Amino acid sequence: MPDQSMKPTPRPGVMDIAAYVPGKDHVEGVAKVYKLSSNETPLGPSPKAIEAMRNLAETLALYPDGQATQLREAIAAKYGLNTKNIICGNGSDELLGLLAHVYLGEGDEAIITEHGFLVYKIQIMANGATPVTVKEKDATVDVDAILAAVTDKTRIVFVANPGNPTGTYVPFSEIRRLHAGLPKNVILVLDAAYAEYVRRNDYEAGLELVAENANVVMTRTFSKIYGLAALRVGWLYGPLEIVGAMDRVRGPFNLNAPAIAAATAAIKDDGFTQHAAAFNAEWIETLTRELTALGLTVTPSVTNFILIHFPDEDGLRAPDADRFLSSRGYVLRAVAGYGFPNALRMSVGTDEANRGVIAALKDFMANKAKTDAA
Ligand SMILES: *Cc1c(COP(=O)(O)O)cnc(C)c1O
Repeated sequence: MPDQSMKPTPRPGVMDIAAYVPGKDHVEGVAKVYKLSSNETPLGPSPKAIEAMRNLAETLALYPDGQATQLREAIAAKYGLNTKNIICGNGSDELLGLLAHVYLGEGDEAIITEHGFLVYKIQIMANGATPVTVKEKDATVDVDAILAAVTDKTRIVFVANPGNPTGTYVPFSEIRRLHAGLPKNVILVLDAAYAEYVRRNDYEAGLELVAENANVVMTRTFSKIYGLAALRVGWLYGPLEIVGAMDRVRGPFNLNAPAIAAATAAIKDDGFTQHAAAFNAEWIETLTRELTALGLTVTPSVTNFILIHFPDEDGLRAPDADRFLSSRGYVLRAVAGYGFPNALRMSVGTDEANRGVIAALKDFMANKAKTDAA
């Protein structure tokens, strides 16, 4: 008889993970909801991507190309890269997980930043390694704080540039300084999920740094400006050694065929992407201006979302605003889990959604004036 008190046990660290909580997509009792909680584009994907995916419907019985060759070639052509240095993933989340899986184990440390993307921490802990969290400065990644945290156990540094949920960025000169200060056996991961939205001369996603070094990788996604979040497509540009190691452990068909087809069409449709970036830039400026005029503080954003900070007063804090906005159908993202208990993150939505949030927040802030006068 087997010992009945025995049971399966996850590896150490797994049960300490706080599971990822996605942005809300509904409100109890509210029929029409504007989902502004997951940084999805309000413009949808390129019509060419939709058509490419539809055309795939007849061949669903066949396995996809396990190398996602046409997609990797399309990405390489767009950015002037070698196809061999590109690996695609089921969302960039999968690539972040593969990096952690291949390079981290028990006793290793990986550095993340105070307001960094929560997926990094989950993947570090899932592989038994220790996340080392360093402070940011004004909701911006602090290169000196990262360098000060490096030990001989450090294996990976995860930096989202631009950051989520902050929307801020680090100039390329600072990223170069960060890389120059890291030991050569530490991988610098530049997560550039929002790179296509950034319009700053001193920003670069990191292509050059990857090309010049054996310990830098850059990840990108089709979930944001390309509007293909449902299909789960991301890519990583890195040195052959790192890409080759990841290739050995990934699922052999990690990208599905409709995803490969749609993403390939999407990345070729430059006109659509440029339109999406211009639409977004205009709204980021308008939202920042209008919300600031209401007495709210907005962290300057180079992305497709803004971080709105609320007054530290009864009835006006972020949870109050969240309830108020939700009751009107505007679903933003609570970011207490990211170290911002008194802020909400708003993704740029349609004209109608954005105007609606501004009007609702105007009412929300005016309620305070009424209570003060009473
Ligand atoms: C949205 C986002 C991603 C993209 O994730 P996918 O798995 O590609 O959908 C990656 N990193 C950050 C910081 C993000 O905000």
